Amino acid sequence: MTIELNDIRFRYGRVQALDGVDIHLDQGAVGLLGPNGAGKSTLLRILLGFLKPDRGEGRVLGHDIRTEQALIRRRVGYMPENDCFIPGMDAVTFTAYFGELSGMPRQEAMKRAHDVLFYVGLGESRYRALETYSSGMKQRLKLAQAIVHDPKLVFLDEPTSNLDPQGRREILELIRDISSKKDIQVLLSSHILSDIETICPFVVILNKGRVAAQGELQNLRETSFRLFELKVQGGADRFLDRVRALGCKAEATEDMILKIYMPPGLERAILFRAAADEGVQVRQFLKSQTSLEDVFARAVGVD
Ligand code: ADP
Repeated sequence: MTIELNDIRFRYGRVQALDGVDIHLDQGAVGLLGPNGAGKSTLLRILLGFLKPDRGEGRVLGHDIRTEQALIRRRVGYMPENDCFIPGMDAVTFTAYFGELSGMPRQEAMKRAHDVLFYVGLGESRYRALETYSSGMKQRLKLAQAIVHDPKLVFLDEPTSNLDPQGRREILELIRDISSKKDIQVLLSSHILSDIETICPFVVILNKGRVAAQGELQNLRETSFRLFELKVQGGADRFLDRVRALGCKAEATEDMILKIYMPPGLERAILFRAAADEGVQVRQFLKSQTSLEDVFARAVGVD
């Protein structure tokens, strides 16, 4: 088990940031998803041992989060959301410094710093002062310092924030490469659904300090509800009212495709029965993929 948390609670003064979080994760890239304020950064800081939970127990790569923080930080990389640059420093010095902080000997840290800077595409600019870096370069540099010590696991906190679409694509591509080719397990925290959807087969959805859903994305899609798309002739409104009364969420798009979200426990046959009862003809019937957006909206209770 790479991450195991049981009943983690944490409050900042009167704000209950985490309220009984249970997470059990094994292999594979994991997306930590939730709206702003859900508790994602707090959770990452607890996993790294920067904050101690008020209640609950946890292990990261088998190490206790309360007592073995130093061991955790040797084996785990962390890309914080906020910048942590030291003015006047260049990228090599900065990256090597983080390598040393994670317990690497100076020479080795320096060598690895060059390697990872080339890997993230900053080879040419590695001696430039950091304050001249663009947002995209800064994100790459934070990624480089997170993997300089060759960690088993890396926590990335909102890695695409402040990036334009091109910069976003590039950093996501790097993260995908780290996760698939470098044998580093990635925990990617984001409030942007599409970031996670393209990289992580597993997701944990946090909302208001609690786990709203967790599991394989594919399973969450299938078990949370199914989406059907229909075209009908005559009485679309009556039909929609009827399926809503049966417990489905239903809406019509502008071009009158009816989207029906069916909760677990209902059979698709009820749609045909509802149509027949309302004297409506079903002209087209498609089962669609529910998007992560749909799963997420349901988990956090947004319509
Ligand atoms: P996320 O990373 O999902 O945006 P955070 O973990 O940053 O969420 O925040 C969770 C909650 O804790 C929010 O209500 C936030 O306002 C609060 N919070 C975070 N950091 C602090 C802090 N240092 N002091 C007080 N409240 C905080």
